[in-house]
Amino acid sequence: MKNTFEWAVIGAGPAGIAAVGKLLDQGIKGQSILWVDPQFTVGDFGTKWLEVSSNTKVALFTRFYQACQSFEYEKAPHFTIQDIDPNETCYLKYAAEALQWISNGLQSKVHCVKDKALKLALRDRQWKISLFSDTLYAKNVILATGAEPKSLKLPEVEEIHLSTALNPALLKETCSKNDTVAVFGASHSAIIILRSLLEQTEVKKVINFYLSPLRYAVYFDDWILYDDTGLKGKTAAWARDNIDGKLPDRLERVLSTQEHLSAQLPLCTKAIYATGFEKRHIIVEGMQSLSYNDRNGIIAPGLFGFGIGFPEAKEDRYGTLEHRVGLWKFMDYLNRIMPLWLKYNA
Ligand SMILES: Cc1cc2nc3c(=O)[nH]c(=O)nc-3n(C[C@H](O)[C@H](O)[C@H](O)COP(=O)(O)OP(=O)(O)OC[C@H]3O[C@@H](n4cnc5c(N)ncnc54)[C@H](O)[C@@H]3O)c2cc1C
Repeated sequence: MKNTFEWAVIGAGPAGIAAVGKLLDQGIKGQSILWVDPQFTVGDFGTKWLEVSSNTKVALFTRFYQACQSFEYEKAPHFTIQDIDPNETCYLKYAAEALQWISNGLQSKVHCVKDKALKLALRDRQWKISLFSDTLYAKNVILATGAEPKSLKLPEVEEIHLSTALNPALLKETCSKNDTVAVFGASHSAIIILRSLLEQTEVKKVINFYLSPLRYAVYFDDWILYDDTGLKGKTAAWARDNIDGKLPDRLERVLSTQEHLSAQLPLCTKAIYATGFEKRHIIVEGMQSLSYNDRNGIIAPGLFGFGIGFPEAKEDRYGTLEHRVGLWKFMDYLNRIMPLWLKYNA
């Protein structure tokens, strides 16, 4: 007989964890919640970005852990992150340990399927979810499927994937002293990579192709200017000294124009693209692309997008539009939009 779940959450990264936690807190029964992920290892956060220094302070991770009753964080064992100053940043591997513990707890409360969702179709006011190995049904679906780094895929030059570039040990293994490495972008990730290349490898030269000046986050009592796009913490301090200060010997920076690309790219042996992210694709019958309302996450009746693939757009006090990405921002957004989702059924 066909079993229809009330809710399905696709993806078990930080966004999927938050979504399952909040559904349980809203009183949705665990057996009515389907949770699908191929691994259940905290998504990209828990696998690809472990050696990245966070752009948020430890206090915000702790706030996330404590934001859902169903996380039962008060029962957690001791984690390294608890020993770090709440006002400091930390390696994401420390934030991921507690998330994995929370995920394990939630998995025991809901119906979990280790698989990949391939296609969704709305039939008889419910969503048919085609997985690799099964077909399941839910009245409502939350896509928390994450995003992939954008790549310029320039054919002339070998690409180093962003996940390799953001892991200093792997980056060191991948580069030799004969390499000239092109780094595209000027974001938090791009600056971390420039620093790693210069401090941890012996590459001959690094050429940074950028489109705009650096942006720095500025902290006020109750808000942060350029909270989502600005450089923060140790990465900001390094950039002020080395990018906007005195350029290190092996670093060259050029505006990413066609003229500069034609002149400089032939000198490069490898390229790293730190140029943003695009949502992971999943087929939804009747939709050409997965467009969503970036103020409330609605994709279609009973179908919602959440997490880095479907970030909230919000204007700051000066009217600058930013897409909000980060654990605490996901939770804050979910607190505001879940009441809407609970009413917007298929
Ligand atoms: C370099 C970097 C540094 C960051 N630093 C911070 C930070 O310091 N602080 C902070 O708060 N945030 C940070 N973030 C932002 C954010 O917290 C992470 O990007 C986080 O991983 C996003 O969570 P997510 O759940 O949306 O996506 P993901 O972590 O990517 O998880 C998505 C999950 O969905 C699964 N999935 C995908 N497709 C399917 C499918 N079809 N079927 C089933 N499952 C599927 C994937 O396997 C994965 O497990 C950082 C991001 C990056 C890229």
